[in-house]
Amino acid sequence: MDVTETLAAPVKKPVVASPLDAGVKPTLIGLTREEMADALKGVGVAERQLRMRVSQIWNWLYVRGVSDFDHMTNVAKDMRETLKKHFTIARPEIVEEQVSNDGTRKWLLRFPPRGAGRPVEVETVYIPEEGRGTLCISSQVGCSLTCSFCHTGTQRLVRNLTAEEILSQLLLARDRLGDFPDRDAPVGAMMPSEGRKVSNIVMMGMGEPLYNFDAVKTALLIASDGDGLSLSKRRITLSTSGVVPEIFRTGDEIGVMLAISLHAVRDDLRDMLVPINKKFPLKELMDACRKYPGLSNARRITFEYVMLKDVNDSLEDAKGLIQLLKGIPAKINLIPFNPWPGTNYQCSDWATIEKFADFINAAGYASPIRTPRGRDILAACGQLKSESERMRKTERLAFEAMMIANHGED
Ligand code: SAH
Ligand code: SF4
Repeated sequence: MDVTETLAAPVKKPVVASPLDAGVKPTLIGLTREEMADALKGVGVAERQLRMRVSQIWNWLYVRGVSDFDHMTNVAKDMRETLKKHFTIARPEIVEEQVSNDGTRKWLLRFPPRGAGRPVEVETVYIPEEGRGTLCISSQVGCSLTCSFCHTGTQRLVRNLTAEEILSQLLLARDRLGDFPDRDAPVGAMMPSEGRKVSNIVMMGMGEPLYNFDAVKTALLIASDGDGLSLSKRRITLSTSGVVPEIFRTGDEIGVMLAISLHAVRDDLRDMLVPINKKFPLKELMDACRKYPGLSNARRITFEYVMLKDVNDSLEDAKGLIQLLKGIPAKINLIPFNPWPGTNYQCSDWATIEKFADFINAAGYASPIRTPRGRDILAACGQLKSESERMRKTERLAFEAMMIANHGED
């Protein structure tokens, strides 16, 4: 299905103003039920009403997707006025929405300042596929790590996103894709589990999610809450470059699927590609994977492996990979390197990638090659970069011309 058909005409530069710009009122989005109850109590909601109010508001926010208190029709008018006076549930501002010629969508979102800070911008990407759709969510503005093949890694860390900001990316995508039920669906409706445009989410946007553990945990637990957004934890994948101490906690406290950005099977090479390896080398990383809670053949770990020409793409590397993963229920995801302006790496030749994949398949591992999506709008893995360091239009046109010359219009 072509998503562009089902949406309002693609907007080139919609600027959806948001009352959040004022940046003053606290939000009710991204709070645990307990935090929401405390917030309501703080504005005078009676103790005996708290549970009921929290579950009403939870349903409006996460099942119905409202972003305006006035749409909460089963909440009395004076209560709505109180909520409006003290809180916000507004969406972030959409600075830019781009639609790729393959249907991939990328939003540049602006969040208001936190405290004395400045507004920040992050990117969120939606990838429609046959019968499903995946939303790639950012966890930080920039990244403190410096993986040498990753565009985000060239941008310094500006700050962690809050649970609200992480969750808002999902809410906003569902708004834009028409994924929330109609206004006139019965009050208290449950979220349908079939036919969703956003059926899966991956924490694979900007940032290292395990360096923002608490906010990511809160947001993902809300996204998977059965009385709300109700996404199955099997359809949520968290990708990490290998923050070993938080890997066990991810399985234990969040319970989502795990992906590891492996990219090299020897410490000397991984130290260069994924420098966090110097702190948590391969042996520790693999031990942490073996101990991942809930690991089984049905819940395998995905190992991501970016294919870099003449760097990590030899058959020796493929053999090393099989050796390294021995005893771990695993899937291997081969990612053709997505180039960005200024990188010194090149993507492996297609024939090399296929040979690598065949070798791994023969060893009994599923090893899908991830088709690059949204390259024309720089929405593919590792191409995200925002804010002041975004490409100027002239740079972008030159880059696009280079891509077309190298790859044809794929
Ligand atoms: N920080 C987390 C999640 C975000 S990156 C992590 O590193 O796992 C999501 C995936 O894209 C990671 O596997 C990352 O290594 C990969 N990636 C980064 N830059 C890339 C590029 N230019 N081409 C292809 N994949 C890339
Ligand atoms: Fe950060 Fe992940 Fe990019 Fe590494 S690959 S720089 S951890 S976003």
